[in-house]
Amino acid sequence: MKKDHKSPESRTALTSVLLVGVLLLILGVLAVTTVRSVQSTRQLMLSALTTQGELVVRTLEGVTRAGLRHQLWGLLRMQSLVEETLRQPHLRSLAVMDPKGEVLAAGVAEPNVSEVEKAALGGLPPGVLAQVQRRLPVTEFLEKEVVVGRPFEPLAAVRRDTRPLPSWARPPEPGQPPPPERGMGRGMGRDMERHHMEMMGWLDKDAPPGYVLVRLSTASFRKAQARVIGNSLLLAFLVFLAAALAAGVMFFYARRRQSELLRLRREVDQSRHLAALGRLAGSVAHEVRNPLSALRGLVQYLGKGAQPGSRQEECARTAVSEVDRLERVVSDLLDYTRNREPRLVPMDLGESLKATLALLADEPRAQGVELDVQLPPGLPPVLADPDQVRQIVMNLLLNALEANNGQGRIGLRTLGQGGRVLLEMADQGPGLPPGDPEQLFDPFFSTKDRGTGLGLAIARRLARGLGGELSAANGPAGGAVFTLSLPLSEA
Ligand code: ADP
Repeated sequence: MKKDHKSPESRTALTSVLLVGVLLLILGVLAVTTVRSVQSTRQLMLSALTTQGELVVRTLEGVTRAGLRHQLWGLLRMQSLVEETLRQPHLRSLAVMDPKGEVLAAGVAEPNVSEVEKAALGGLPPGVLAQVQRRLPVTEFLEKEVVVGRPFEPLAAVRRDTRPLPSWARPPEPGQPPPPERGMGRGMGRDMERHHMEMMGWLDKDAPPGYVLVRLSTASFRKAQARVIGNSLLLAFLVFLAAALAAGVMFFYARRRQSELLRLRREVDQSRHLAALGRLAGSVAHEVRNPLSALRGLVQYLGKGAQPGSRQEECARTAVSEVDRLERVVSDLLDYTRNREPRLVPMDLGESLKATLALLADEPRAQGVELDVQLPPGLPPVLADPDQVRQIVMNLLLNALEANNGQGRIGLRTLGQGGRVLLEMADQGPGLPPGDPEQLFDPFFSTKDRGTGLGLAIARRLARGLGGELSAANGPAGGAVFTLSLPLSEA
């Protein structure tokens, strides 16, 4: 079987790099799309505004030609035509120039155009201005406007045609009566029109053409551009948000996986350690127990012959108590290292507590200590091994009695919480020793002269073996609080 050698750290780093890569890719694509979109909006706008500018020029030419033909043309009409045209959307200003470059008619659409720009050619960059002066076609995208300049030739067809001029553009033959006047050209008869045409140089094939300068606003382009950029920024923000969220979730799961792995590693190390310790404890117990009990019997025998209160009697008593302590260490060690499979049955934690307390009736350390037991009725049964629960409670109780030192009160209560039943034991002793409360559960941790440091280690090991937990904390009013939690039998 192939093993996956990648550690969770390297896998998390790889995923982070991948995430950053995907994020950069998305942002890159977004930036390129935005630039393209802005460019194509600009291109579209330019071509739409150019077409509109050209249309304005063609319309002005057409209307001028028609006016001349029908003897309805005049500078005032041209000016009002320009003003009328300026009502079209996007138009900022419009100027019509004659072949000599004189402005025939001009107007401004936007009320906020500055005075400089109000002049027909105001505010144009020198390059554009030079082209206008040379009557060359101009299409220029400036910051706020598109400038469209085109030659203005209302009579282009007449000028270029090799055939004779149409009758309405021809001077009357000498002696011939002028053709009848048409239209509403008040006071502007045929002579007047001819005069106009000649004056403007529109009939002179060699004269330069007139010129129309149309300036169109790019405000709607700027609005569209701002919308595109705004949308892209919003999208980028959302992508960032999603990436941050994904990174957060990833980080959270990676941390959880890592701590789970650490816990498992610790458990494996501990069980390896325990197995070794168990083998050692087993052989030590085997070698030591029998000589110890023989030693105890011998010392007791020697002590019996001694004078009561004599030095010999005191030595014998001390020796017996030390042998007992050794015996206890060996038993605790065996207890701690033994892998006892729990016999799980539904049981009432309150009843188990009462039974354990009954065992303390003759315990000298319990004398003078008030046991305040609160067992609310109706708590659901837990699934546990009654013998092991009794051992846990007993270990906790002996510690609490020792901490209380023959006085004060020990509070014991059961309560249901989050699918579990808890047993809280609060004493009025000095509280937990300084440092991390977790260290109390390490085997051989003890602050007592004659302690083995195995009582809490055994209790926690048993509690966890039952699917429960044992924890320690300082009480709000001093003293230590130990909490045992066990799973419900009907979880
Ligand atoms: P031992 O009692 O042999 O020292 P334990 O594992 O039972 O071993 O306890 C470990 C240590 O935890 C004790 O030495 C003591 O410092 C601390 N401890 C246990 N119970 C209490 C308690 N009720 N109040 C304060 N400290 C406690």
